[in-house]
Amino acid sequence: MISIKKYFIILTLLLLCGCTNKELTKTIMKTNDSYIVSINYPITSIKRVDNKIKKYIDNLYNSFIEKHTDSKQELAELNIDYTSDLIKERFLKIVINSYQYSNKNIFSNSLIINYDCLTKKFINDIPIHEISINENIKLNIQKKIINPKKKIIALTFDDGPSYYTKSILETLNKYNIKATFFVIGNKVKTYKDILKKVIESGNEIGNHTYNHKLLSRLKDDEFKEQINKTQELIKEYTGYSPTIFRPSYGTINKRLKKMINLEIVLWNIDTLDWKYKSYKTIAKRAISKARDGGIILMHDTHKRSNDALKIIIEELLKQGFEFVTISELNEVKMLRNIR
Ligand code: ZN
Repeated sequence: MISIKKYFIILTLLLLCGCTNKELTKTIMKTNDSYIVSINYPITSIKRVDNKIKKYIDNLYNSFIEKHTDSKQELAELNIDYTSDLIKERFLKIVINSYQYSNKNIFSNSLIINYDCLTKKFINDIPIHEISINENIKLNIQKKIINPKKKIIALTFDDGPSYYTKSILETLNKYNIKATFFVIGNKVKTYKDILKKVIESGNEIGNHTYNHKLLSRLKDDEFKEQINKTQELIKEYTGYSPTIFRPSYGTINKRLKKMINLEIVLWNIDTLDWKYKSYKTIAKRAISKARDGGIILMHDTHKRSNDALKIIIEELLKQGFEFVTISELNEVKMLRNIR
């Protein structure tokens, strides 16, 4: 009896202090002629922690934008990502890493937050005893048979998993359609449950780097880390090993290509759903460019992408298209070549 009581007291305390695993990731992606920005930071719903993070991000972001409005300079880059761990259900450790490239210089910087959810205080450091997650994941993937004579098209979603992945998956499942998701390594842990559901519904997962850096600037080792860390995280949290890779910003060079043993997949129909705010415009772009063997690029990081998705699916189904994953697309292309 006492232990149950104790358990509820601890549970109540945890709920009161807001230390849960249900943390959200906020994403900022911005690209123009002067700069590229890719930012991920956590929202913990602990006000003091969130304020600290927000202040750090705002400072970096605003000063970066101010400095880089001149498009005559070389393309500048701001990249911020994080790791977050709840240790022994009590200590929250968040590390936010920032990386800036401008005028051929690289600046990197970190913010480390250690927070005790029980005393509700920031602390200097946490005694870390890593808890291993080994759940023995068993995947039950649904498979579909594709008719190679039908017009085929592949939907792909980049930059997730995110808060919006769930709604995209619901739409796909409603129409019994499979797509391909190119995921970012540093989001895998936070959204591991939805990612597992994405795979179990028969969708394909691809590697989209660890934190969306401009790859051509990375050293060999740094590039390998971007790929390998993401492969390991996906495998660890979902039990699935991707065989396809989409480079961040769609750019990769010869040097890096030699180092990778995953199939590189780009796209040929760009919805620009990160740029256009109207879901109708996004849908129109996909529908007007749709063709047999096409690969549509979307992002599972906006609500409007899901709104557009419904229109795209209904219209293309009417036009007789069959939606396939990247691997299925390759299979069909192979079958057609043989015949
Ligand atoms: Zn991307």
